[in-house]
Amino acid sequence: PPLYKQRYQFVKDLVGKYKPKKVADLGCADCTLLCMLKFCSCIEVLAGIDICASVMKEKMHRLSPLPVDYLQPAERSLTVTLHHGSVAHKDPCMLGFDLVTCIELIEHLEESELKKFPEVVFGFMAPSRVVISTPNSEFNPLLPGVRLFRNPDHKFEWTRLQFQSWALETARRYGYAVEFTGVGHPPRGMENVGFCTQIGVFVKKYPLTSASAQSEKHTEAVYKTVFKAVY
Ligand code: SAM
Repeated sequence: PPLYKQRYQFVKDLVGKYKPKKVADLGCADCTLLCMLKFCSCIEVLAGIDICASVMKEKMHRLSPLPVDYLQPAERSLTVTLHHGSVAHKDPCMLGFDLVTCIELIEHLEESELKKFPEVVFGFMAPSRVVISTPNSEFNPLLPGVRLFRNPDHKFEWTRLQFQSWALETARRYGYAVEFTGVGHPPRGMENVGFCTQIGVFVKKYPLTSASAQSEKHTEAVYKTVFKAVY
């Protein structure tokens, strides 16, 4: 399967394993991952956040309930919302999630945004799990036609050492443990370059109760809700 599908499948497998009830996808783009996660029966709250409202709206109708969803109401309730905003800013709509996914997001952040990102995601949102994927630049020589970066909008692409140092420092600062893996196996004989996409899975070490975690987090709303569906 193509790499993007392997990344989505990785998230889906993680959801199957840990059964989070509330999942937020940061940098959700055209909501393809959210559309897949909609079918995970453990999920009761699903949210997408992106800085680009137009790309979010392109195919968001896919997140609307179908007639069959009304004819055969499911046991669980499901609320899907899309918010327009930047991951460099805090908003109360980001609170209360069990799992936060950031698939191919961080390499699109400007330096100033990347600086604020850990405090927003790990400090403020503080979910029990965070998944971050990003290109592994060590794999690039194996990709035909790639000169500097895989995509002209990328602000950087990191080696495994660069990503792992950033992730370990972030995890240390906010009380998480992190494990590294990836998708997209290198060809035989080239195993030393690592996965095409590198992935860090962060787990909160000392989960607070959600009440104590959220009581101190008063912040003004800056995000704009662009879509909401209740199943
Ligand atoms: N996660 C999707 C996937 O894996 O298919 C899309 C990844 S796309 C390469 C990166 C997305 O991040 C874009 O939709 C872009 O608009 C969004 N993005 C970039 N900077 C952002 C920011 N500061 N806050 C929120 N989203 C941002």
